[in-house]
Amino acid sequence: MQDEVLVLGGGVAGCAASIALARKGRRVTLIEREPTPRHKVCGEFLSGEALKDLHALGIYVASLGAVPINHVRLAAARRAAQAPLPFSAASLTRKALDTALIAAAIAAGVRVEQGRSVQALARTAPSVWQATLDDGTACVAPTVFLATGKHDLRGHGRPKDPLQWVGFKMYYRLSAAQIADLADASELTLYSGGYGGIQPVEDGIANFCCVVQRRYFARAGLRWEGLLAKMQQDCPHLAMRLGGAEPLLDKPITITHIPYGYIRPTTEDGLYCIGDQAAVIPSFTGDGISIALHTARCAVAAYLAAEPAPLFQSKLRSALRVQMRLAEFAADGLNNSFARAVLPFCLRVWPGVMCVTAKLTRVAQHAAVAPMQSPVEI
Ligand SMILES: Cc1cc2nc3c(=O)[nH]c(=O)nc-3n(C[C@H](O)[C@H](O)[C@H](O)COP(=O)(O)OP(=O)(O)OC[C@H]3O[C@@H](n4cnc5c(N)ncnc54)[C@H](O)[C@@H]3O)c2cc1C
Repeated sequence: MQDEVLVLGGGVAGCAASIALARKGRRVTLIEREPTPRHKVCGEFLSGEALKDLHALGIYVASLGAVPINHVRLAAARRAAQAPLPFSAASLTRKALDTALIAAAIAAGVRVEQGRSVQALARTAPSVWQATLDDGTACVAPTVFLATGKHDLRGHGRPKDPLQWVGFKMYYRLSAAQIADLADASELTLYSGGYGGIQPVEDGIANFCCVVQRRYFARAGLRWEGLLAKMQQDCPHLAMRLGGAEPLLDKPITITHIPYGYIRPTTEDGLYCIGDQAAVIPSFTGDGISIALHTARCAVAAYLAAEPAPLFQSKLRSALRVQMRLAEFAADGLNNSFARAVLPFCLRVWPGVMCVTAKLTRVAQHAAVAPMQSPVEI
């Protein structure tokens, strides 16, 4: 199999890049290991920038049932405070979003291979990349977009995550009173060892997605029930929010190895790394999807302008560095017990602080990664 561009991974970044490349007349093969989109560990918050990029791809989230999110609420211990978001945001399950993205890629003319897993990726000659699939098939192309998200390919891995974060997602059916109280807010709950977010998604259900350091999870007996009880004990507001709520999955979806703060320093010729393979921002910012879309757009522009992948990757790193450090700094703050105690109070006195934090941790759109030629519209 020989193609002009191979895109590995059919999540947000991989689909966005494939659609943009196909629209520019490139022959694209997208390889996605899941036969159909499934639930992923994600808070499912779509920031203003993400909505703009999705719109440009022809994805109208309102028509998929997305819920508008206009406020952010911070809850620590028994206190909670809320502030308006500085942009219009939305909330949509990843299953629905990924389904729409795959459909858009197929409609754009991308050859989509679902249920095929890439086992290895190697350069076999100066301009030849070879992806070997699980059944031994070799896919060959001069250019590859690596978009396998949280999953590393052997030989192209990201560094270890020293705090050993563990992520969980569970859907709940809340009571009518809880839903009314949550309203159009994304609620960030703070506890020692991590944080969680709860927000409404389509069909009247709520997503609770959280991350904890492994040692905190170990103290909870390495079991979800124990962890949930411990988080609720630390943050009674969470106990109030989830009290009597009906869990909708048999068990939470989990993920390990989340190298927060990572930005890929370099790459090889012909290999553009995008999405979580390019950068992993702390989850509380709700900006990972936006970064996935942004890095896809920038990488496609670089490729079409014949900008070498190593140059693109290093420009991307410089462009994302400040935002990433600020997000890490804020994440450290959330993990500090004194900060946790005073944050809701600060937010009540100065709601603008949340707007400032939200703006500072956003990816700078049209950041200085654009190649010399005019940027590509997606
Ligand atoms: C706990 C948590 C909460 C988060 N909450 C939010 C949030 O609320 N808002 C937000 O914007 N971001 C959030 N994020 C971040 C966001 O989920 C990611 O940044 C985003 O999904 C990255 O997109 P991607 O395309 O790189 O990866 P993904 O969307 O994960 O897609 C990668 C795809 O590659 C496929 N794949 C993997 N390995 C292979 C292989 N070997 N062969 C073929 N296919 C393969 C996978 O099946 C998958 O479909 C959160 C992250 C975490 C951990």
